[in-house]
Amino acid sequence: MYVIHRWVLVGMVCLGSGLAGCNAAHEKGVVTEGKKPKVDVRYRFGGFQEPGNWYKGNLHLHSTISDGNLEPRPTVEVYRRAGYDFTALTDHISGFWDKEKKVYRPLVYPLEEMNKPGFLVVPGIEYNTNRKGEVIHFVVVGPGCDQRLEDNEDLSNAMKKWWDNGAFAFMAHPHWSLDGTPVLEEMTYLPAVEVFNYGTALSEGLRGNSQMYWDRLLRKSRAVLGVATDDSHRPGKDSGGGWVMVKAQALTAEGIVTALRNGQFYFSSGPRLEDVYLDAESSLHVRCSPVKSIRALSTVGKVVNVKAPQGKTLTEAVMKWDWSKTPFVRVECTDEGGRTAWSQAVMKIEKAAAK
Ligand SMILES: [Zn+2]
Ligand SMILES: [Zn+2]
Repeated sequence: MYVIHRWVLVGMVCLGSGLAGCNAAHEKGVVTEGKKPKVDVRYRFGGFQEPGNWYKGNLHLHSTISDGNLEPRPTVEVYRRAGYDFTALTDHISGFWDKEKKVYRPLVYPLEEMNKPGFLVVPGIEYNTNRKGEVIHFVVVGPGCDQRLEDNEDLSNAMKKWWDNGAFAFMAHPHWSLDGTPVLEEMTYLPAVEVFNYGTALSEGLRGNSQMYWDRLLRKSRAVLGVATDDSHRPGKDSGGGWVMVKAQALTAEGIVTALRNGQFYFSSGPRLEDVYLDAESSLHVRCSPVKSIRALSTVGKVVNVKAPQGKTLTEAVMKWDWSKTPFVRVECTDEGGRTAWSQAVMKIEKAAAK
């Protein structure tokens, strides 16, 4: 393990008056002083400064209620045995009609009976639609997830309806779906996007990574959250490769979903993030489990990349961040196996929007 102490790297050359214009906040929230840019710290990279405990969870999972290969109980048991604190069970709604009860099967299964001490099953649903000739899937988790997506319902309205009902909702696997980017970018209401889908990564490689879709939204100053999930259909074989780490007050459905909605989580396919914050001098501090690279990213060409020396790993980096021409900043830590932990993004508040 190779620890860099206070290694300040000015990798993203501060162009022009960049450094003078840099600012951000750790404790104080939004910085308002002088001509320095304001920073939206609602999500603070993912709950690192919030009170509570970290809980590991999967937000996308299928059982025999839809097209998974295990019954619901053994499905969630795979996650409990793997050390997860919670999982959502998010079976598909489309095409899975219970003829006897005359209702979509995911809406009637008594999930709460599967909760055990220290392990929580959160209700959820995956909605499918083929609007505009595109394959579009949304995953909705928590209270209010059982509001139907009506035929021809506007997708932004549907997303807002789920959100207003208290659920956490995200666009699933846009890269796998090969959604045209306009489907996302024309949505006026979109809280979150599935950035990494492990099931797809196993079967279709890079199509499991939808990072480009997330970055395009962030580049347009859309404060959209990212998630990683398994989207497991064969737990034990395609599980345990994409998860969220949620900072919540309590391991209850309400506690977890509230923290998700507040952006108090980061997501990972391997490494652990221990702390990420911007200090008052606009230095970005990152601590994590041993990795090969720690990266701060924004729009085109705006990146600070700290690499471990040959044969070593990193657990810490301090990077000077230049806010000029950078609408957001987010952090990735990638280990020797190419597994990554992603922070949420912190957005710069543009002058016009800040008034
Ligand atoms: Zn799907
Ligand atoms: Zn799915």
